[in-house]
Amino acid sequence: MKLADTARQVLAPTYRQPDPILTRGEGCWVWDEDDNAYLDMTTGIAVTSLGHGAPVVREALIEAANGLTHTSNLYFTRPAIELATALVEHSFADRVFFCNSGTESVEGAIKFARLAAGDRRDIVYFDGAFHGRTFGALAATDREASRRPFEPLPGGFRRAPFDDDIALTMIDESVAAVMVEPLQGEGGVRVPRPEWLRALRTRCDEVGALLIADEIQCGLSRTGRLWAHEHADIQPDIMTLAKPLAGGLPMGAILLGPRVVDAISPGVHGSTFGGGPLVAKVALAVFHALRDPELLAGVQPRADLLRKALLEALGNDLIEVRGVGLLMGVALRLDHPGRAMARAAFEEGLLLAAASGNVLRILPPLNAPEADLLEAVDRLARTVRRLKG
Ligand code: PLP
Repeated sequence: MKLADTARQVLAPTYRQPDPILTRGEGCWVWDEDDNAYLDMTTGIAVTSLGHGAPVVREALIEAANGLTHTSNLYFTRPAIELATALVEHSFADRVFFCNSGTESVEGAIKFARLAAGDRRDIVYFDGAFHGRTFGALAATDREASRRPFEPLPGGFRRAPFDDDIALTMIDESVAAVMVEPLQGEGGVRVPRPEWLRALRTRCDEVGALLIADEIQCGLSRTGRLWAHEHADIQPDIMTLAKPLAGGLPMGAILLGPRVVDAISPGVHGSTFGGGPLVAKVALAVFHALRDPELLAGVQPRADLLRKALLEALGNDLIEVRGVGLLMGVALRLDHPGRAMARAAFEEGLLLAAASGNVLRILPPLNAPEADLLEAVDRLARTVRRLKG
């Protein structure tokens, strides 16, 4: 029996994987068991931002493996302290809470926001939002098919239109927090106007609500700035991080500003694994690599090259290329959902992530060689020709 068939018998069928079994990776490339190469423009959904097999990650992991693996948060360990120090030093935050995934950092953000908001309970989220799969995060996620089977979801969540001034009128004194992706990823790579994000910030201040920036996908240099909210020149009160934080190891973080910290006391929240010494040591090395000015300066030129090549290669088949930096969405004039197009791209040896509607996401490593980016565009053009028959 093929290993893929075994996989389908033993793994819960929550995804629709193709047959090949991936075994190794280097930079933008991954290989399967038969040594077929695939050009990976997903980075494991915005996770391996330094590429597969990045020496920084590998070396930190080896060093970390020689130290303590786990102690729980009953005790201090040096890597978590050093990582939190670096995150505080390079953000608006005063404190950091570590956890293990994106959805978990969203859950914690909602809890900390309600804790700091006194009697207020309501959380405002936006159409097209994706914040995760656990109950709190799902209650703030605008995806009917993901929500419906699990209802009832927790109450106190209010959906408002994204990048629309009507949203401002829905934020009043009963709102504990407004949660926004400064750049929506799963929702179809939607870029809000910076002035709308600024207006959200102002409205939150007017009514005393907290602003939560979910930067799990768009943060940590993906847009060419360390934090995506920098593009709008605002600061949130809480920020959620995960995906690229530990270079491929599972880790999340909740960054907490001064308005939240005073409400927190021992026992209000916790995590057995969060910020363990092994992941935190790797994350510290990754964080320094991701905030490196040279890496950051290379993001926009790569995005420009990619955008130009996409416009040239896809011509009339292209509706739009959108995004900021290397979180890029390609909307195609093809009558296929994103998932079917991603599957066709796989047949051309190109890994792409689907987003909502007919949008494909291109999420290369932030240090991707130009030649790999151009090769990805060639393979996408071939995919489009194949889909048009
Ligand atoms: N928030 C955003 C903006 C995301 O893009 C995602 C995942 O795609 C999540 C939260 C959930 O993260 P995780 O899959 O690590 O739980």
